[in-house]
Amino acid sequence: MNYKNFDFEAMEARIPKGEVRTRFAPSPTGYMHVGNLRTALYTWLIARNAGGSFILRIEDTDQGRFVEGATEVIYRTLTECGLTWDEGPDVGGPVAPYVQSERKDTYLPYAELLIEKGHAYYCFCEKTESEEDSGDFNRAADPCRNLSLDEAKARVAAGEPYVIRQKIPSEGSTTFHDAIYGDITVENSTLDDQVLIKRDGMPTYNFANVIDDHLMGITHVVRGSEYLSSAPKYNLLYESFGWAIPTYVHCSPVMRDQHNKMSKRHGDPSYEDLKALGYITPAILNYVTLLGWSPRGEQAEREIFSLQELAEIFDITGISKSPAIFDIVKLNYFNSEYIRAMTPEEFHAAALPYITSAGPEGMDTTLIASLLQQRCEKLTDIPAQLDFLKELPEYSIELYTNKKSKTDAAISLEMLNATLPILEGINDWTIDNIHDALINYATANEFKNAKVLWPVRIAMAGKTITPGGAFEIAYLLGKEEALRRIRKGIELLSAAN
Ligand code: GLU
Repeated sequence: MNYKNFDFEAMEARIPKGEVRTRFAPSPTGYMHVGNLRTALYTWLIARNAGGSFILRIEDTDQGRFVEGATEVIYRTLTECGLTWDEGPDVGGPVAPYVQSERKDTYLPYAELLIEKGHAYYCFCEKTESEEDSGDFNRAADPCRNLSLDEAKARVAAGEPYVIRQKIPSEGSTTFHDAIYGDITVENSTLDDQVLIKRDGMPTYNFANVIDDHLMGITHVVRGSEYLSSAPKYNLLYESFGWAIPTYVHCSPVMRDQHNKMSKRHGDPSYEDLKALGYITPAILNYVTLLGWSPRGEQAEREIFSLQELAEIFDITGISKSPAIFDIVKLNYFNSEYIRAMTPEEFHAAALPYITSAGPEGMDTTLIASLLQQRCEKLTDIPAQLDFLKELPEYSIELYTNKKSKTDAAISLEMLNATLPILEGINDWTIDNIHDALINYATANEFKNAKVLWPVRIAMAGKTITPGGAFEIAYLLGKEEALRRIRKGIELLSAAN
């Protein structure tokens, strides 16, 4: 395809107008780091707040970075998070295709158009990557920049390999406006004649994003602040084509500490890692949104928001310029708040895999979930709390001594000996029946309940801190196992007394 027979007008005619259009444009790297997730969130929130469209574009022009299955991670994460897209590779849309590699025939004509307009040129030099961005741009001495167009075209026609470079003005400065950072001005002498089309004919990200954002009618470009330094070159490209410049929204990085960005390489968790660590999606979304954005006015003090509520109040002016530090302790707080606020059914569904992994087969998982819901910050806290159900741990008889319950080893032995036949006598092993049997015994003997219940619970759990008390644990274990454990307690205490 050549710019002469490329239908630029048809491309322009497709561009949707009159609505806010934002895009999330991830490269398929195989994971969604927290900073990326936050960009996706802000991008989605801006579109939803304005009743506009959210577009998913896959930026895969850098084939070297291609990772098998990586686009699935993007789809899965956005879907799980409820970040629905109105246009994208799978759902199509008015400005398809939405995968950059499928748009590759579009970029060259636009680069050629720029050459004709005098804002780009063919370059035949072979430069290494370090030479590319050395900061030493001696434009006057550049052999390709100063070639006549006819000569350059003749070399191209003769089959000489080339790249196409942006022709940055030699003089003057470029100013661009960012919604977060304000106006930024740079001297053109500090900008490199960046490559737009590579030797293999593929566009660079720096070129493709401008073409795509324009042709897709993107009104707000939300991206990480690592792209700030390229923004003047993007501006010059828009100006060279005579296109409207979108609103830039550059977001500060998410940091692991004062000095370092979060990074996969340093073992910082991605969205999927956080899920595996037992964090639940709405809590992650709520926390990540507040990393670098704060509500204003009446909502300023509030912390817990559903995605829908965020969409209603989200406003670009609340995005902060300063880097945010990812604080796992704060995320724990959000997570436990969300866990507590779940319905019992929701919590049961979320907790079930963790309850099952702890192994007590055939137990009442609904009861177990109800005992755990107020007792975990993360779903991964569950298995360790249930370990005793599967197998009675080795325990010291010192656990039987408890000041508050007024028990020691001797009293505990007495209580276990007394309650064993009572428990044996229960035919219908329900929580209520176990409760009544043990409480009636305590009342009849004028004992405080704890004096009876502490030893029974220790004998059945072998630990002092358990989800649920004596009745629930006895019920969960089933009659046979509960009695076996009481007998085991009697045995241990008898041997010591
Ligand atoms: N593909 C780029 C990335 O994943 C997106 C940058 C942008 O949003 O323009 O970093």
